[in-house]
Amino acid sequence: MVAAVALSATVAFARPSVVASIHPYADLLEQIGGTRITVVQLLPSGASPHTFDPTPSQARTVAQADLVVMNGGVDDWLRQLVAAVAPKTRLLVVSQAIEYQPIQGTDGAGTNPHIWLDPKLMEQAVPVMVDAMAAVDPADRATFETNGASLIASLEVLDRELAAELAPLRGQAFVPFHDAWPYFARHYGLDLIASIEPSPGREPSPRHIAAAVAEIRKSGTRAVFGERQLNPRPAEVVAQAAGVRLALLDPIGDTGESYQDLMRANVATIVHALRP
Ligand SMILES: [Zn+2]
Repeated sequence: MVAAVALSATVAFARPSVVASIHPYADLLEQIGGTRITVVQLLPSGASPHTFDPTPSQARTVAQADLVVMNGGVDDWLRQLVAAVAPKTRLLVVSQAIEYQPIQGTDGAGTNPHIWLDPKLMEQAVPVMVDAMAAVDPADRATFETNGASLIASLEVLDRELAAELAPLRGQAFVPFHDAWPYFARHYGLDLIASIEPSPGREPSPRHIAAAVAEIRKSGTRAVFGERQLNPRPAEVVAQAAGVRLALLDPIGDTGESYQDLMRANVATIVHALRP
């Protein structure tokens, strides 16, 4: 796996430069592009896309990009940045380029954006990313198509593996930290009964916490989940009040970690935390 690199303004791009908002897309793009492209990931390790603002040096990176790839919704700061500094650059908004049944967000703010946590939806995103990369680098289309086909095969294996691991939990209550997991839960049959922090990055009200604790007790679930990018304190409070385990999920991942490994780690965490 090629690591995403930070670029200084003095570096000229020998290879086409693809900017991605968040790690899962940066990794999938690297798996498709191999050594033929340079992928730059904007969201730093450990940061939440919900509370992030790009820096001036990142604006320069975006201005030099050949292609920008984002999810939509959760990373709209990148859409604004592209409009400001690179309005003519090719922009792929994955949630607008694939077909899926949208799920409403809990806070009434339109469609829930977290589609990348459903590997089946990412299978659909691969050909779209292949086409976008071939549009900026036509000479390497055959490589992108070959790598894209391998990636789809790998995502199919991943999906079957995760489905098998989660099958015993079908219908069980699932209480993640924020509302990042509805596409994942729908695909794998978990019952998303509540989330701990309805507006990511903003502490939940005592009233919301009390309601979540009541739901958790009623459901008989054995765990709640914090998230690596957000303050876990509210999850600790809920776990303690409800008398259930606390485990940590990661919807974003880190440089060097493949999308497939990220999803495997999350599912292992869920299976382990919800065990009897
Ligand atoms: Zn989120």
